[in-house]
Amino acid sequence: MLNKRSYATLPTKIEKLGRLSKSLKGPEIYIKRDDQTGIEFSGNKIRKLEYLMEEAFGKGADALITCGAIQSNHCRATAALGAKLGIPVYLILKENREPEMIGNYLLDHLFGATIKRISESDYQHRRKELLEDLANQLINQGKTPYIIPEGASNGLGCFGYSDVIKEIQEQEKSLGFSFDAVVVPTGSGSTLGGLILGKVMYDYPGEIIGFNIAADAKTFQHRISLILKEAVTYIDSTPPDAHHPRFVPENITIIDGYVGEGYGKSRAVEWDFLQHIARSEGILLDPVYTGKALYGLTEEIKKGTFNNAQRILFIHTGGVFGLIPPSDLPR
Ligand SMILES: *Cc1c(COP(=O)(O)O)cnc(C)c1O
Repeated sequence: MLNKRSYATLPTKIEKLGRLSKSLKGPEIYIKRDDQTGIEFSGNKIRKLEYLMEEAFGKGADALITCGAIQSNHCRATAALGAKLGIPVYLILKENREPEMIGNYLLDHLFGATIKRISESDYQHRRKELLEDLANQLINQGKTPYIIPEGASNGLGCFGYSDVIKEIQEQEKSLGFSFDAVVVPTGSGSTLGGLILGKVMYDYPGEIIGFNIAADAKTFQHRISLILKEAVTYIDSTPPDAHHPRFVPENITIIDGYVGEGYGKSRAVEWDFLQHIARSEGILLDPVYTGKALYGLTEEIKKGTFNNAQRILFIHTGGVFGLIPPSDLPR
């Protein structure tokens, strides 16, 4: 099997959202606290980085390069990890305007990352080239850089979340029941992709369902299908067929309709929901990913989409530092 490094605090616990479940009169909702993978690492990206770092060190890497939005949780987790390991981290961050020194961006600085800010249009069209330019500069300085893709979302990153299926199966044994569905926000794809891979690899009976928090479901179905095809190439012994029916875009379940105003933008209804969960459950969601996805899940439960499910597990993928720059939140 593939090797990984061990950085995250695992396994993350599973808790019941008792008051939310009761008020919806639907299935019981549980939450898996991947926001508690570690304060500095907090969130889902560190599970993927455990696999990518094994490859990076295998290639002799002594510098990390990655990219994302200005408030990227992934970039912050990478910056924290680099500081922990004593490896310089270079971030290419997307933002047109001079950013405020808050939230994840502030933490990137605290962790000592070298930051290059580029425009949204450069990010969209020239990102790959800019990442490679930066890598070449470092190579010329005698370094061995390792490029981590946006969100650590490649085939290798998937294994961080196929492992989560194994972790859930263990936890189901001690809980004495199983979940009918595992629900997660999807942003760059490999968290949902990894869960689907895990479902296939470990014969997990529960449904895997994503809520997209940017773009649209179709875009993610295609992206995730490609990530999964790449993921199976890493499995030596009897890998699932790259054309497994679960890996076909049409069979990747993503519920659309909860992007709201767009990536990273909040509406009053989403903020109210986030506040409601904070007050009724004592749990902080983040405005960009988990707030929208759990809001979507509750709306779908009200519509009856989950009438056949008894228990649902929502994965809290982190992002709490996104609450610290609430500058554009309708409070
Ligand atoms: C990145 C991220 C996601 C989305 O995970 P992907 O694997 O990129 O789809 C969800 N929640 C939080 C808090 C994130 O930072």
